[in-house]
Amino acid sequence: MPPRPIHEPRRDDCPWCGSKRLRTRLRAPDLLHRRPGMFVVDECRDCAHAFQNPRLTPEGLALYRREPQAGRARGPAARVLAARTSRRRLRSVARVMLRFPEPESWLDVGTGHALFPQAAKELFTYTSFDGLDLTPRVERARQAGRVEEAHVGRLTAPAITARLRGRYDVVSMLHHLEHTPDPREELRAALTVLRPGGHLLLELPDPQSAFASLLGKWWAPHGQPLHLHLLPLANLRAELESRGCTIVTADRSAAHVPHDLTAALSLSLPHARGAAPLLTAATALDHTLSPLLRHTRFSNTYRVIARSPAASAPR
Ligand SMILES: [Zn+2]
Repeated sequence: MPPRPIHEPRRDDCPWCGSKRLRTRLRAPDLLHRRPGMFVVDECRDCAHAFQNPRLTPEGLALYRREPQAGRARGPAARVLAARTSRRRLRSVARVMLRFPEPESWLDVGTGHALFPQAAKELFTYTSFDGLDLTPRVERARQAGRVEEAHVGRLTAPAITARLRGRYDVVSMLHHLEHTPDPREELRAALTVLRPGGHLLLELPDPQSAFASLLGKWWAPHGQPLHLHLLPLANLRAELESRGCTIVTADRSAAHVPHDLTAALSLSLPHARGAAPLLTAATALDHTLSPLLRHTRFSNTYRVIARSPAASAPR
């Protein structure tokens, strides 16, 4: 049997709006793990949606999603992730939900090792947290007591959507939609598993960040080859509103993660010895600039909180 292709055919229209007016945004290799292959991110001239084209097939994604051998490329990879998943930052994300009635049930989608539920639990002591992930990491997180229920698979899988329908007061998706093959379907599934009037908490890299054009392929959130879609905030907002949601928050400043320069530098110098002083300087610069940049177009992440429609509204 011939090996299954790792790329889908290249598409000539925008997966978000159908427009044929596309341009190449950038070409990038796998900078994080240095595995072979070159990836193209196209952008729609009409709606500004950015997407990997040709896209990796599920087989291709599985190949690139595998953890590299221990130790290899751990430096830059760890550095890129650490800024976003520090306990302190995750707690501050969870804190934004304190203004709403205390949730009984909360599903974190794309939860990985369930670090977010673990941090959120410190603030929501009576809430029951479940996790969903493509990988069995979530099952290990359940055994470690970080979530009550572990669901392995995609939220859009009919069996999973059906089982979880209408169960949650909060569904969180932090840096998750960019990994999904069809973000629109993922949002539809998220609204299905929410109770009427429940809240959806989303954080996504902002493809319109000034850092994205300044740093190009070195901008960590371009995230090739694993980021399949980069959604402009306006598109996400319009999609949620078209599904009857109320946008409670659409915030470009609070969710900024101060790591663009450090990540760009570590992606470009992964093997350089003696880079430590440079990286330290870049980290200091990221943090010094952060209070200023987060209020400008340099902010790299946006956060959306949307309330799902009440019971009688169509989904
Ligand atoms: Zn488009």
